[in-house]
Amino acid sequence: MTPPSRALPPRRGRTELSTSSTIPQTVPSRWQRLAAVAIPLALLALPGPARAQAQNPAQTQAQTELWDGQRAMASIGDLLRFTPRSMETAGHQQTIDYIKGELAKAKADPVTLQRWVFRNDDGKPFAMTNIIARFQPSNPRRVIVATHYDSIVKAYRDAKTPDAPMPGANNSSSGVAVLLETARVLSLLPAPPVGIDFVFFDGEEGSKSLGAGDPDFAPIGSPYFAAHLRDFYPAKKPEKAAVFDMVCDRDLHLKPDPSSIGSAANEVKKFWDIGIKTAPSSFDANPLPYAMSDDHSALAEAGIPSFLVIDFEYEPFYNTTQDTLDKCSAKSLEAVGHTLLQYLYLP
Ligand SMILES: [Zn+2]
Repeated sequence: MTPPSRALPPRRGRTELSTSSTIPQTVPSRWQRLAAVAIPLALLALPGPARAQAQNPAQTQAQTELWDGQRAMASIGDLLRFTPRSMETAGHQQTIDYIKGELAKAKADPVTLQRWVFRNDDGKPFAMTNIIARFQPSNPRRVIVATHYDSIVKAYRDAKTPDAPMPGANNSSSGVAVLLETARVLSLLPAPPVGIDFVFFDGEEGSKSLGAGDPDFAPIGSPYFAAHLRDFYPAKKPEKAAVFDMVCDRDLHLKPDPSSIGSAANEVKKFWDIGIKTAPSSFDANPLPYAMSDDHSALAEAGIPSFLVIDFEYEPFYNTTQDTLDKCSAKSLEAVGHTLLQYLYLP
């Protein structure tokens, strides 16, 4: 596929398409797929005698509901204390320390910091850190679940105070909160069939303006990770990657974007099938009319089937001082988290 270019603000990060795309019907029917989802979680969670009732949807429900939207909301609240969380700020290092601390509680083993120095066009150096937390590191089957943790340095789209800090509850704390809560729940459940690598990318918002409106900004952390895949995957590439960004909007509407469908049509279909069943008001299988560029792009270009979960329609709050916790909801976070948890337990 043609990599989507970074478009002009405010609709940056997406490319208009002249024709709409559809998700190919290449996997089993929705009903078959959901049946396959429901059984493994219930089976894994139950001792022997109870397995006769393993297909009881209520039991799967009980496991899924370990994923707590209120706890994810609390994580967003924690992260907002460090605003701004962009590169070369005090909040950037505080965010790294916070994520490491939360992952330690979730017993992720090991947590690795991928550190390097990025130089801007003008030679200015930036200390960069991707955070990688591996579950079941000995499992040869690997799946990446990723987000970015850097935030935009200032609320450049704010009409009144464009130089004020950008809180970034939705962009980007929501993705971090989804990953942390998923890690916490995984530490309580039997291991899924795949080994999971949670990756918290640095520098998605780019370096030139630290996200504040630079029209040709480009992510830094995910391309670096993609260029050094062998450091983490010496034998073979991960099977797939799911990337989360801007997923806490109270009015959440998630549609797959064409670049995700181009890279990982089957995975998009699996994820949205579960999402529509789990939270029908938040998921819509009809593709977006534009392609998104985000951290999934570099992973897709590296040959990993990769998709993005994002609700980019976040006006009038997008990248303003109004991107605050009250624009998010636990229900929206649970729509995403419950879907992700079921997806990770697919065979
Ligand atoms: Zn973002």
